[in-house]
Parts: sequence; C-alpha cells; structure tokens
Amino acid sequence: MTAHADLQANSYEALSGPRLVFATGNTHKISEFHAILEPFLGDIPTGSIACLSDFSVPEPIEDGATFAENALIKARSLCNATGIPAVADDSGLCVKIMGGAPGIFSARWSGHHGDDQANLDLLLAQLCDVPDQLRQASFVCAAALVMPDGNEYVTHGEVHGVIIRKPRGSGGFGYDPIFVPEGFEVTSAELTPEQKNALSHRGRALRSLAPHVVDIFR
Ligand code: IMP
Repeated sequence: MTAHADLQANSYEALSGPRLVFATGNTHKISEFHAILEPFLGDIPTGSIACLSDFSVPEPIEDGATFAENALIKARSLCNATGIPAVADDSGLCVKIMGGAPGIFSARWSGHHGDDQANLDLLLAQLCDVPDQLRQASFVCAAALVMPDGNEYVTHGEVHGVIIRKPRGSGGFGYDPIFVPEGFEVTSAELTPEQKNALSHRGRALRSLAPHVVDIFR
C-alpha cells in the first residue's frame, strides 16, 4: 500500500473524526443536506459529518457540461484531498422558454458567482415580456457520492413550477422567492424548510443517494 493510500484507508476507517464530507460551503445547502439525510442516518454523531469549510482544500473548477459532471468534479476533488467519502450536489434553475438556462450557470448568471440577488434580478428582467402561460421552469439537482475506493454514485431530482414576476418570501436562497412549485400557491421561499425539503430537487436527489450514504456508517 502506498503512503497516500495508507493515509486514505486510515482516515476512511477511523472511528473518530469525520467519515463523510459534504462538498459545499453554502450554509443553506449544508442545513438542507443534514435535514434531508437525518432520517436515514439515525443517531450518527454530528461530528462524523464534515463540510468543505472544515478542510483547507482548493475548490475545483466546475467545468462540466451537465449537473452530474459538476457534482462528480466536486465530490471527486474533495474525496481525493481528504481521503473521506464525499457527497456533492450541483443544481440550478432551468427555464423552459430560455432553452433550459440558466441551468448549470445558475449560480453565476449575472456574472458574479453566488450573487443571488443579482442573478434573480437579471432573470426577472429577461422574462419581463414573457406571458404567464410560458413561464414554466424546473429546479434540477444531481447528487454524487465518491468513495476513496473509486466507487461513484450519481442520482437526480427535479421539481417543476413557474417563475412569478415579483419575489415573495424570505426562506431558502437563490431563486426560491420567484419560483412557485407545481401544486402550490406560495413560492419556495414561503415554504417551511420541512416543506421545501420534502418536495425539492435536492431532497429527491439526496434521498435516492441515501442508501449508499448509509452504507458508509455500517
Ligand atoms: P451550485 O451551488 O453550483 O449547485 O449552484 C446552485 C445555484 O442554483 C444556486 O446558487 C442558486 O442560484 C440555484 N439554486 C440551486 N438550488 C436552489 C434552490 O433550492 N433554491 C433556489 N435556488 C437554487
């Protein structure tokens, strides 16, 4: 066994310290990850799950062409750097009349990565002349689990809805205040965290990944 492989095996099998790491520094996403996976993980100690900011590792360039490719890039990079199984998601908003944009560019649609307000304002401006019946959109998420032994799992989740004209609500993040999920009259930002997690694209993708995540703690 090489020194690197030895280090990886030791970290992976260690009984103390994190045994799984979430490849995100977004605090909203971290709480969503925890809340969504909690029912599957039972009484796993909190300290056994870390997140990106617990490590000093460079963030990879997300240059994939799909949500799945970008989720894998993030999970592979963090798993390689830490030797711990890593879960990453990549997600975004796909607006039908815009051919699926902003899509994988959702986080930097305005040109500034992570500027939720500017991204939302630009999208609303672009859609200002689009009539109500043509404002369908979907939140899409790919979730990836990458294991130190090279095994990789990818799952998907989607939620359909429409884009309204003025932001409403203060919950969630990103485009939540302008997205009304199918079957609802309120925006994602007006749902409780529990309601959002039950129906969200990330909830669906992570719940499909959960059986593989649970195996790590067996
Ligand atoms: P990621 O962090 O690279 O996956 O980028 C996700 C981007 O898509 C975020 O910055 C948001 O703009 C948008 N997004 C993804 N999921 C959600 C959500 O649940 N609500 C609102 N916006 C979201």
